[in-house]
Amino acid sequence: MQFRDLQRQYDVLKADIDRAMRDVAASGAYIMGAKVRELETLLADFVGTRHCISCANGTDALTLALKAWDVKLGDAVFVPDFTFFASAEVVSAQGATPVFVDVDRDTFSIDATDLEAKIKATLRAGEVVPKVIIAVDLFGLPANYRVIRGIARKYNLLILEDGAQGMGGSSGGKRSCSFGDISTTSFFPSKPLGCYGDGGACFTDNDEWAELIRSYGMQGKGSSKYDNVRIGMNSRLDAIQASILKVKLRAFASELEAVDNAAREYTARLNGIAETPVVPEGFRSSRAQYTIKLKSRLQRDSLKDYLQERGVPTMVYYPTPIHRLKVYDKYNLPDTDCPTTAMLCDTVLSLPIHPYITSGEIEGVCNEISAFISRYKG
Ligand SMILES: *Cc1c(COP(=O)(O)O)cnc(C)c1O
Repeated sequence: MQFRDLQRQYDVLKADIDRAMRDVAASGAYIMGAKVRELETLLADFVGTRHCISCANGTDALTLALKAWDVKLGDAVFVPDFTFFASAEVVSAQGATPVFVDVDRDTFSIDATDLEAKIKATLRAGEVVPKVIIAVDLFGLPANYRVIRGIARKYNLLILEDGAQGMGGSSGGKRSCSFGDISTTSFFPSKPLGCYGDGGACFTDNDEWAELIRSYGMQGKGSSKYDNVRIGMNSRLDAIQASILKVKLRAFASELEAVDNAAREYTARLNGIAETPVVPEGFRSSRAQYTIKLKSRLQRDSLKDYLQERGVPTMVYYPTPIHRLKVYDKYNLPDTDCPTTAMLCDTVLSLPIHPYITSGEIEGVCNEISAFISRYKG
């Protein structure tokens, strides 16, 4: 059994994907070009934004957004403490200061109360100027943008939606990657909408920012690639990845349905056995991960080993609060800075899930978990 079975998806889509890749090979146009523009239009329509600007990966997409907003030394950017490191890394790479915010224990999303407290504390300290809130659609569930938007307005901050795991989710009739002033995603193979290499994109309704993102992603181009008006980077999507994504986008709606059903089946079977993930009323998760909570680090680690021995792969997303990573020792933050994040890092376990997992496989995983829990004495 695989954690995320990408071969099974390929087996289903093989004819179309093979044809798409061959067409690109025969076309002689490999980087950017018509295929990439077509994909950008399809994705902007799907998400519901005016602009989609593709780039080389999800980390670059975040970087391009921060560059478009000129985020730099002296700026504070609020980032959840429970996320993939890239969400914070891009802030530091710009020379700005990440301010770590705790998350909600049920949704794993940035906690509104702690967010406002951290904004106030940053204003009081007066060392760096609050500029951006990065909200992450962790494990596929959109963050609580209704509340975050209110806070952003109150303190005049921009929202950057890190939708690397969010593509396909929605809330209040809007799709993920349309909630931020700029939103980003990743097409890394194991993300909800993945290609066969690296890829990413930015989404926005703002014409000026879209133009800036295109410029920064193409070596700071002005009116042409050879008229350079700012220091940018080289961040492009290639035509093979774009054409694979076009095939996968056609299958995406039914895949989202299938993976959501798989998640519901896990939740029904694990009722009373382990704490299962919450999708609040009005929200839809892309189910990038199916993450349960155990009672302690010891119990979680023992279950992980137990499942591993029985051929069930699991992952710990994420084992360490971002503020406790070695790279951020310099901030000297107390262990107590984000207590919910610390608790989650001890207790979360992500189970195998993807659109092509079978009921039999889910039943097998749940039976093993049930057997472990009933015998566990820790
Ligand atoms: C995967 C991921 C990224 C980075 O995407 P890449 O394409 O690997 O650069 C950023 N943020 C989050 C939350 C992610 O899960």
